[in-house]
Parts: sequence; structure tokens; C-alpha cells
Amino acid sequence: MARVKTITIAGGGLAGLSLGIALLQGDVPVVLHEPATYPRHRVCGEFISGLTDEVAERLDISDTLSDALSHSTTSWFVRNHRILNATLPVAARSISRYRLDQRLQKKFISYGGQLHENSRLKPSSAEGMVWTAGRVAEKDSPWLGLKIHLRNLPVAQDLEMHAGGGAYVGITPIEDGYVNVCGLFKRRSDATGSGLALLIDYVKGARLTQLADHLSSAEPNTDSFTGISAFTFGRQSHAKDICALGDAASMIPPFTGNGMTMAFESADIALPHLLDYAQNATGWAETLHRIQSALHARFNGRLRYANLLHPFLYTRPGQTTLSALAKTHLLPFGLLYRALR
Ligand SMILES: Cc1cc2nc3c(=O)[nH]c(=O)nc-3n(C[C@H](O)[C@H](O)[C@H](O)COP(=O)(O)OP(=O)(O)OC[C@H]3O[C@@H](n4cnc5c(N)ncnc54)[C@H](O)[C@@H]3O)c2cc1C
Repeated sequence: MARVKTITIAGGGLAGLSLGIALLQGDVPVVLHEPATYPRHRVCGEFISGLTDEVAERLDISDTLSDALSHSTTSWFVRNHRILNATLPVAARSISRYRLDQRLQKKFISYGGQLHENSRLKPSSAEGMVWTAGRVAEKDSPWLGLKIHLRNLPVAQDLEMHAGGGAYVGITPIEDGYVNVCGLFKRRSDATGSGLALLIDYVKGARLTQLADHLSSAEPNTDSFTGISAFTFGRQSHAKDICALGDAASMIPPFTGNGMTMAFESADIALPHLLDYAQNATGWAETLHRIQSALHARFNGRLRYANLLHPFLYTRPGQTTLSALAKTHLLPFGLLYRALR
């Protein structure tokens, strides 16, 4: 009988680690390369919306999420005014990436996975190579993501969304009494400060004055401050013959709270095809074709709606429309929620 093939994974974020765990659980050897080390803070709203128990169980990662906070209520604010209180049709989970990624890494190793930290690979279409290395760098992108964990920050609901000029900020409680504050901003050349001061400068620049005051009174975990730039939303520009999953395949705008779920779902979609490949039941070309077709079928509509709705969050005409719809109770919150998942 032919030997079981090894799968090589580039990128130890959510897609790469969860896929690695599930493959190891299926007795497939996995080698994973990650340029960073664990644990580490990541720019992320840390709000996981739309992940089903079934997907988490198939990936064998339910235990890593078992104590995640369960969040259902949300308030949306546009330019300092509350426009909406709503309840999510399905509760979301919140847990820091610091904790979640480290749990997944430990589980991957405990299952016998080979992890090479401080190891960066080049995009490759080699057989058996899965690319979960996150976004493709886009140096002309206008976006900047900033995040920090704060203590003593009272929050109105499980998730506060604050939309301002060229920006929006999500605020959600995570573990140990901390609240995660994560914003997406149009980059500014005149921004000043570092850590929380920089985030507050961006919040002020977006004319979210009340939020800026609120953040100023909180106590930061300075180590948790992180930022990223050089990314764009939608399909990422890889060669067609690369087996890309998660953000490496496509990035959904963060207001959906669905990027982490898509990373897990893409691992779940790829899993049976990679198991077949590793067990010599299919060739690599067919495996790649099956995975890419399934990703397209699952995510295309979701990405289209998300990209269409995204400007409503950060442009003035979009925000005016959003506020008017919310005021007249015409904002189809449940419908939008379903379209984005
Ligand atoms: C501002 C902002 C807020 C967000 N908020 C949320 C939210 O609230 N909820 C949500 O669900 N999603 C959110 N997201 C999206 C979410 O963070 C991503 O969708 C998710 O992290 C994707 O997981 P991934 O495993 O595909 O990629 P990542 O988690 O980015 O992992 C990729 C890994 O690949 C590694 N890597 C990079 N280059 C290489 C290389 N050359 N070789 C090997 N490894 C490499 C990286 O170090 C990293 O560890 C947000 C995104 C942004 C920008």
C-alpha cells in the first residue's frame, strides 16, 4: 500500500493550525512553517461570528473555544450617536488571539505536528503545499488596523460598533476582564503617538470624540497593542495553482466579524480533499480543483455582499443612509446578518 503523504502548511494562524490539527487527527503527517513565535497578539476584533459547533467539531478545535465568551447584543454608533440596538440571530464567541492561537499551536504539537517557528516560506504551487499565510501585502492600500486590550472600560453591549470619518471601531469584552478595541482606519500621515495614544489619535481623527474620551480613561495592556497595514479586501492575488485558504485566499471586511470563521470554514472545506490526496486517492491537480471550487461556491456571495456593504460603515453618504434606515426601523439587520454568513 502507498505511504500516506505529508502535507506542508505555510502559516500558523487559524486556518493553518486548525487544518493541521484536523489532518493529524486523520493520521496525516503535517509540517507547518510560521515566521513568528507563540503566543503573540494579533490585530483582530476577536469577535467570532457564524462559526458552527459542527465545523469546530470536525476540525477538532471545540475545546480551544470552550471558555470563549458568548456575545449576542450589539449597539451601533454613527459619529457619536447611537443608531441601533440589536440582538444577533446567533450568539458570537469572543476570545483573544493571544490565547486562541497559542491553544491551537499547543494542540497541533501535542498531536505530533512538526512546527517550525521563525520560518517563512515562499508562495509555492508544489504538491501537498497549503498556503495559509494570510493576506497578500498590498503596499498602496489606504487601510490601517490597530488593536489594544483595555481594562476598566465600561461597554454598553457585547459588541459596540462605532463608525466615523473613514474609520470604524469594534469594542468587545474578552477574557480576564479585558475589552478588545480594534479599529479599521484610513491611514493618515499626520497621526502621532504610539500604543493607546496612537489609537486615540486615529479615533479623534475619525471625529469619534466621545469614544476617544472614553478610551482615554481606560487602563491599557501595553503589550497587546498591534497594528497592520498593506492589505486589501476581497480575493487575494495569488497564482491560480496555489492552494490558498483563509485570508490568503480572500479577506472579508472586518465589520462582518466573519474572517476567523472563514479561516476555519476554509480548513473544513479543504480537509476531506487533502485527506484523499494524502491517502493517495486523488492527485494534486484534482485536489486543488475540488478545494478551489468548493471555496468559491461557499464564499463568493458572502464576499460580494460584504464588499458592497463595507462603504456604508466608513463613508458619510453610507453612514447617513445607515442612520436613516435604522431610525425608521427599516434596516434589515437579520437579513444582512444572514447574507454575510
Ligand atoms: C482590523 C481587523 C479586524 C478584524 N476583526 C475581526 C473580527 O472581529 N472577527 C473576525 O472573525 N475576523 C476579524 N478580522 C479578520 C481575521 O483576523 C482574519 O480573517 C483571520 O485572522 C484569518 O486567519 P488566517 O489563518 O487566514 O490568517 P492569519 O491569522 O493572518 O494567519 C496567517 C499566518 O501566516 C503567517 N505567515 C505570513 N507570511 C508567511 C510566510 N511567507 N510563510 C509562512 N507563514 C507566513 C503569519 O505570521 C500568520 O501567523 C479582522 C481583520 C482586521 C484587519
